[in-house]
Amino acid sequence: MAEAVRVRFAPSPTGLLHVGGLRTALYNYLFARRHGGAFLLRIEDTDRSRYVPGAVEMIVESLRWAGLDYDEGPGVGGPHGPYFQSERLDRYREAADRLIASGDAYPCFCTAERLDAMRREREKARQSTKYDRRCLGLGAAGIERRRASGEPHVVRMRIPDERSVVVEDLVRGTVEFSTDVLDDQVLLKSDGFPTYHLANVVDDHLMEVTHVIRGEEWLSSTPKHVLLYRFLGWAPPRFAHLPLLLGKDRSKLSKRQADVAVSDYRAQGYRPEALVNFVALLGWNPGYDRDVFSMDDLMREFSLERVGKSGAIFDLEKLRWLQASYLRSLPREVLREELKPLLEARGWTWPGDAWLDRVLDLMIERIAFVREVPEKAGWFFADPAEHDAETVAKRWKPESRGLLSRALAVLERSPFDAGSLESEVRGLAEREGVAVSDLVHPLRLACTGMGAGPGLFALMETLGREACVRRIRRALGTLP
Ligand code: GLU
Repeated sequence: MAEAVRVRFAPSPTGLLHVGGLRTALYNYLFARRHGGAFLLRIEDTDRSRYVPGAVEMIVESLRWAGLDYDEGPGVGGPHGPYFQSERLDRYREAADRLIASGDAYPCFCTAERLDAMRREREKARQSTKYDRRCLGLGAAGIERRRASGEPHVVRMRIPDERSVVVEDLVRGTVEFSTDVLDDQVLLKSDGFPTYHLANVVDDHLMEVTHVIRGEEWLSSTPKHVLLYRFLGWAPPRFAHLPLLLGKDRSKLSKRQADVAVSDYRAQGYRPEALVNFVALLGWNPGYDRDVFSMDDLMREFSLERVGKSGAIFDLEKLRWLQASYLRSLPREVLREELKPLLEARGWTWPGDAWLDRVLDLMIERIAFVREVPEKAGWFFADPAEHDAETVAKRWKPESRGLLSRALAVLERSPFDAGSLESEVRGLAEREGVAVSDLVHPLRLACTGMGAGPGLFALMETLGREACVRRIRRALGTLP
């Protein structure tokens, strides 16, 4: 690539950063890093009715958490600032004036009521509800008179008739639009603020953006943008529209199907590496069978050529799987230190670090979050308050009581390492003429209160003889 790559993430501050926004930001970031270019953050805050106070800070915070540092933007600065569109109004006005002068835009004085009535009428007549261009033929004198009398007006783009606009998209290939379907888009509102379309084009030009990488929902706006570049005599950037994010039912991803805010995932304990890895695979694939990618891997491997056109399914199970695999890759001491306050909060104590590490070793394949140790295996730390009813119904058979009390007698004198425990229990099963599982299930139920968990003999060794014996006695006393 000859020119220096410059890409931008351009969120509107209307709320929290969503996973779709994170994906857009990530792909821009990776593309910039891969090509040694710059990644900009630009805040598109020209729609004052949708502005949410604090949204910019929340978006920046989520980007930071995910590890997406931007080279230019709010708080960082850069040669093309300001990076808030609300602070760049003069640039948009200037562009609008140029467009009016060249006949590619015109002032429109129609009131909201008039536009409503027009649309209703056209709808009734089954005509397209595009603006009927009543203000297109006002003439210089008419425009001046109405302006002078202070009548509010917008500036509309003059869409050429019966032309085709071609968008060359790096993901979707050549996409052709007929101008007949395009409305004479409002560019400047009556309050002097630009609409998204004008501000976006002006800024991408002034900020020397080379590639516009954004969600598919903007594809239908792109012919308008291409026309604006043409009218203003500017070379357009290259475009890449990313596939939609879909829920499992293949409908557009929404809150109904999953949490959508990045901060929700953060609050649930997901690691940024896992969420980034997951989001990277929503639309992009490496071209071979592999799922786990660090940010460095992604920076090396990401390319727009490997972004697909079809919607990407948001599969929470895959996210959990990635989260679990990141958790497994962390040093035990990191997990241990994270675990301690969770145990303290429940008033639980433990014999020492080495013992906690054993618990983590036993649980690591069964958890995706450290908090799942106390949630799923509190019995490591406190005697089970009850025995899982379903397991009792399924596993506690008439002969279980007798077997468990004979097992107790063996365990009271057996060495208490996992290997010895296993051979003792196997030996007992053989003498009793029962399957090993006929002993394992009641023992697990007694020691943990549950029907499943880590390997029985290893967990018994970790619990120690005293706790196991106490729990088995209690089970013999309380189970039917
Ligand atoms: N402000 C738009 C948004 O909120 C930006 C779209 C674009 O990248 O052009 O997504």
